[in-house]
Amino acid sequence: MIKAIYPGSFDPVTNGHLDIIKRASKLVDKLVVSVLENPHKKSSLFTVEERIENLKLVTKDIKNIEISSFRGLLVDYAQQIDAQVIIRGLRAVTDFESEFQMALTNKSLFPNIETLFIPTSIEYLYLSSSTVKEIAMFGGNICGMVPCEIKESVLKKFRK
Ligand code: ADP
Repeated sequence: MIKAIYPGSFDPVTNGHLDIIKRASKLVDKLVVSVLENPHKKSSLFTVEERIENLKLVTKDIKNIEISSFRGLLVDYAQQIDAQVIIRGLRAVTDFESEFQMALTNKSLFPNIETLFIPTSIEYLYLSSSTVKEIAMFGGNICGMVPCEIKESVLKKFRK
């Protein structure tokens, strides 16, 4: 059984993330999408619990998926849940350097793990959670950027 983990901040989950989730779920038996609890990042828009709820909502039709969160080293968590594969999405070349470095570091820490890069779909090439937040902050239209189910909850954060 191939179990994979797709880690990220998902603050908020975007259509770019969802595209990677859908494609990855077809390649493996079990996909664990896991929210990184980053103690150094104080300025998150959504709490970890809210991000988990949002992920559950937008992936409710995918059968072989599980949503979780983790703190500490990704490879430790991967080992703990018996995941053999790390899924990462690649956008423009700018992602490559840091993602490549991360993959090699993870491999040196835990040689049994493989990182699988999935290239973004062209329509999501320039889409990131930070872009969504910037547009939402100024009341712009985020349709097509985040799944419809969570659009209101993103906009609500900036109305407060
Ligand atoms: P962001 O970079 O948007 O803050 P995360 O830290 O949550 O997102 O990223 C988790 C993973 O999802 C990373 O591998 C990242 O490269 C990937 N990813 C983010 N946005 C996209 C996108 N639009 N298309 C493909 N992959 C993406």
